[in-house]
Amino acid sequence: MAEDPNTWQQETKLVRGGMARSPYGEISEALYLTQSFAYESASAADKRFSGEEPGFIYQRFGNPTTQMFEDRLALLEGAEQCRATASGMAAVHVALQGLVRTGDHIVAGRALFGSCRWILSELMPRYGVEVTFVDATDIEAWKNAVRPNTKVFLVETPANPLLEVTAIGAVADVAHAAGAKLVVDNVFATPIFQKPLALGADIVVYSATKHIDGQGRVLGGAILGASELMTESYKDLLRHTGPALSPFNAWVLLKGLETLDLRVRRQTENAAKIADAIGAHAKCNQVIYPGRPDHPQAAIIANQMSGGGNVVAFDLGSREAAWRFLDTLAIVDISNNLGDAKSMATHPSTTTHRSMPEAERLSIGLTEGWVRMSVGLEGAGDLTRDVERALDAA
Ligand SMILES: *Cc1c(COP(=O)(O)O)cnc(C)c1O
Repeated sequence: MAEDPNTWQQETKLVRGGMARSPYGEISEALYLTQSFAYESASAADKRFSGEEPGFIYQRFGNPTTQMFEDRLALLEGAEQCRATASGMAAVHVALQGLVRTGDHIVAGRALFGSCRWILSELMPRYGVEVTFVDATDIEAWKNAVRPNTKVFLVETPANPLLEVTAIGAVADVAHAAGAKLVVDNVFATPIFQKPLALGADIVVYSATKHIDGQGRVLGGAILGASELMTESYKDLLRHTGPALSPFNAWVLLKGLETLDLRVRRQTENAAKIADAIGAHAKCNQVIYPGRPDHPQAAIIANQMSGGGNVVAFDLGSREAAWRFLDTLAIVDISNNLGDAKSMATHPSTTTHRSMPEAERLSIGLTEGWVRMSVGLEGAGDLTRDVERALDAA
């Protein structure tokens, strides 16, 4: 008897969603490493190309393994359609490019992943697309930034690196009143804890490199939304510009999804303990963690996130203290990635956010004392000991 996968629990969707078994009946999803596909006749090729008959044509357009990944993630997100990309940045770039033309205007939260900022402040203006950055926590600022040619709002929430949170529903209302689409970069929240489409967003993007792989192996990305918008905005763009995800990477990410819920929940339990240990230490000026009641946007978090996630940010007062902290860590790696099984910590102002002009860094509150930590799956006792020793040394 067949069930509707949409009625399944999240955990079931992650393990079984999108499965398309070959006639061999394999249990683990098949890896179709093939660039192209053969047709039974010339007329079958004709029908496949015209779209009259479904089926795969070429890896740049689609692939059975990649489609299993797309279908599984769409099911998890509650999206009509998902398109996978080679990296998170390819997803962000395509998501924006497909929605704007020369002469259009984008409004974006000013705290963003570094490469997203580059696309907005450097690349978009080359094609005559104007961009305004706003304090994403300020709804009036979004309203005031709207112009007659505004087509897209972009927000990352929680945002990199200080975990600022934006009310997705309120920003979606402003976007829609202006006739614009809201794109949400949902990496930090993960698809486990926040569903932007249900909150009013039009498009969700992921770097699957982060929690979805979660084991440090491959790059990947995804764009999700309603079928009509996805098809009209992205189908041709993806097909002709070629940011396709490798089927091998899609297979790795598909297996990553199977354990995503389990991993993210354990990482989040660990992160909550680490955030409290850091917050209680004398060397820490401020700790920001979306799972703590003292997070500046705790009320919004309670409305739209079902968990705090695995990233913690904290201020040790100076670059010297932050570097001493990092250099004393014995278990936690110094690395700029996040969402991995292995815990890692980074100094944003000299790594991920170094290309941001200082005035802009200061405008998002990023002074040199801040450290960002992605909490992994190690034992909470070992992590707490490591972090407390490093704080003592800071
Ligand atoms: C990492 C990241 C990206 C970019 O993803 P890649 O897979 O590295 O290209 C985009 N947005 C956020 C919030 C990220 O953390």
